[in-house]
Order: sequence, then C-alpha cells, then structure tokens
Amino acid sequence: MALWRSWLRQIKQWWLRLRCPTEFLCDNCRYDHPSACRRPQRPNATQCPDYRPR
Ligand code: SF4
Repeated sequence: MALWRSWLRQIKQWWLRLRCPTEFLCDNCRYDHPSACRRPQRPNATQCPDYRPR
C-alpha cells in the first residue's frame, strides 16, 4: 500500500511539473515566500514534493 501511495505521489509530481509554465517550480508555487517555504532549493527548485501551483 505504501508503495502504491509513493507511486501515485510521483505521478502527481510528474504531472504538475509538466504543467508548470516556468523553468523553476518556485516561480509558479503558492509557497514561494520566505515565511512559507524554508527549502534550500527555493527559488530555483526543479523538483519539489511540496510544489503547489498558484
Ligand atoms: S515549496 Fe518547493 S516549489 Fe514551492 S517555493 Fe518551496 S521549494 Fe519552491
């Protein structure tokens, strides 16, 4: 079951990445703000499990 969830999560991330209009996910992410995201890859993330389109 955990494997299935992991697989679904990867498919979802792949789909969101395909639909992102910019090179970096952060440019189109609702968490692209210092108080909302402390990930070191911000603002140039090309892969991120927390990415949510605006
Ligand atoms: S959550 Fe990920 S994609 Fe969104 S701003 Fe932070 S690092 Fe970038």
